[in-house]
Amino acid sequence: MDPIELNADLHCHSDVSDGTLSPEGVAARAHANGVQLWSLTDHDEVGGQQRALRAARELGLPYLSGVEVSVTFAGKTVHIVGLGFDIEDAALREGLAATRGGRGQRAHEMAQALAEAGIENAYEGALRYVGNPELISRTHFARFLVDSGVCANTPEVFRHYLADGKPGFVPHRWAALADAVGWIRGAGGMAVIAHPGRYNFSPNEEHAFVGEFKALGGEGVEVVTGSHRPDEYPKYAAMALEFGLYASRGSDFHSPDESHTDLGTLPLLPGKLIPVWELLAERVHMP
Ligand code: AMP
Ligand code: MN
Ligand code: MN
Ligand code: MN
Repeated sequence: MDPIELNADLHCHSDVSDGTLSPEGVAARAHANGVQLWSLTDHDEVGGQQRALRAARELGLPYLSGVEVSVTFAGKTVHIVGLGFDIEDAALREGLAATRGGRGQRAHEMAQALAEAGIENAYEGALRYVGNPELISRTHFARFLVDSGVCANTPEVFRHYLADGKPGFVPHRWAALADAVGWIRGAGGMAVIAHPGRYNFSPNEEHAFVGEFKALGGEGVEVVTGSHRPDEYPKYAAMALEFGLYASRGSDFHSPDESHTDLGTLPLLPGKLIPVWELLAERVHMP
């Protein structure tokens, strides 16, 4: 499990959150694409973990438990991936339930805001794409706006309607960073900063964020991810080395129709980095 050359995909989504494939479907696609170590990391939810683990076992695919927790830090939304935790841990499950608890109300407010921008019935529209009633997300609204012809594709929906500051955006308070890291570590897992290149932090804010994450017991950072451009990999490789963080790799795959990065197709982690799976070797479920 140690070599840095391992084709690990430790970040992706199923229809238990905002992906379009079932956990079994994601497992089959990861396996077919040559993934050698897999983790399903649905947003704020571990409801797909048993199914993912079972499917991985049947395919002979080593598996790490996973989740992607929504966090509010310094007024901005950041994502923290948890890997290799006990999926039955009660405090983690309660924390995740509380984190996703506000999504229903937020979705109604988003629909109201979109109605004011001239788009009617967006709540009912988005709901048609939802696989898990507790997990309605902006992605489901985006699918509705694409399929109803308002926008040509998901990135366009975010640019025009759903990104921070756009007409359908509703500010939301997610989990605190200390709580998210604490739940993951309390359940025996490793906390990993997801796609650090996607946050609009100034250099000082970014340094404060990573420093606080590390001080709270966070141990990893995604370097090679489908949510980074290849020219961003060296910057986050340097961040991993500067802060003494383990490096992770994952496609952030959501859907065969939408995702530009398929499962297991990213470049390998650059040398010198220590991969997260080196520390998590004991937590891997071998088939
Ligand atoms: P939410 O947790 O409801 O705020 O939704 C966040 C999700 O929206 C992310 O996990 C992505 O799947 C998706 N998303 C965010 N920004 C974009 C974007 N610019 N283009 C496409 N999808 C996006
Ligand atoms: Mn998503
Ligand atoms: Mn994310
Ligand atoms: Mn993700």
